[in-house]
Amino acid sequence: MNDSAQDDTRLCTARSWLAKARRVLILTGSGISAESGIPTFRDAGGLWSGFKVADLASLDGFDRDPCRVWAWYEERRQRARQASPNAAHRAIAAYIASGSDRVLVTQNVDNLHQRAAVQHGDAIGADDVIDFHGNLERMRCRRCHCYGEMPPVIDASSRDALPRCGRCGKAERKLMRPDIVWFGEALSPENLRATQALASAADVCLVIGTSLEVYPAADLPPMTLMHGGQVIEVNPRPVLPGHPRLVTLAGKAGEMVPRLLAGL
Ligand code: NAD
Repeated sequence: MNDSAQDDTRLCTARSWLAKARRVLILTGSGISAESGIPTFRDAGGLWSGFKVADLASLDGFDRDPCRVWAWYEERRQRARQASPNAAHRAIAAYIASGSDRVLVTQNVDNLHQRAAVQHGDAIGADDVIDFHGNLERMRCRRCHCYGEMPPVIDASSRDALPRCGRCGKAERKLMRPDIVWFGEALSPENLRATQALASAADVCLVIGTSLEVYPAADLPPMTLMHGGQVIEVNPRPVLPGHPRLVTLAGKAGEMVPRLLAGL
């Protein structure tokens, strides 16, 4: 069999698994947004204007220099706003809207899955999408953790201009921070518990555009396999080790995902 016939066979197998599955968990990473023009973590090189991303994406970094951290997140947020959901985001939004027990867990913070769902005419609910690592479009108080409304533009030119909590006492109104899970911070225990339960119960875990180097997200596909489920991986450079219940679709998300989910 030549390569293209093998690819077709893999695609048919993956579609038949999804067609039979009752519970499906979709896990996405930054690769799904690459075709929308948003660099993946590794493409960005882990550096921004000479600063290490690990220094910016941390509570220590925020406390040291909140203006620099807000400037970085604001640049990413505005870039994500200018980007559009691509064919893979759209296909997932349509797939989730057309069935039950289909849940999306994303490691992305760019809000493109949520925007694709809105474009599809379906406001994605908290039960349908879990943004595992936070969202650039949310902010919360550094002290009391309450959420605040995100202004269209954040002025990070001085500490006085940064957004502050509307609930903390007037004398010491605390700074708002991006609602992103930073290095050294734990995921929300509810998200973690819910997601691990979904991965264990899933008939199919569909993994798209992630290097699976970040935990605990990386534990989810092995968890599905361990409980007897099947895993489908979409990535031009697949990372999961071979397994009888794994099918790998080596290709870009924007091309593969619409073909995989069409009509299901
Ligand atoms: P990663 O950079 O480690 O891996 C990206 C993966 O995507 C790679 O395996 C690569 O082969 C694959 N890929 C590249 N182009 C693709 C395409 N067109 N279609 C399908 N796959 C493609 O990213 P990660 O695994 O998501 O982990 C890095 C962390 O960085 C995550 O925690 C995430 O929150 C964060 N991050 C998010 C964004 C975003 O929100 N868009 C962007 C950068 C980083």
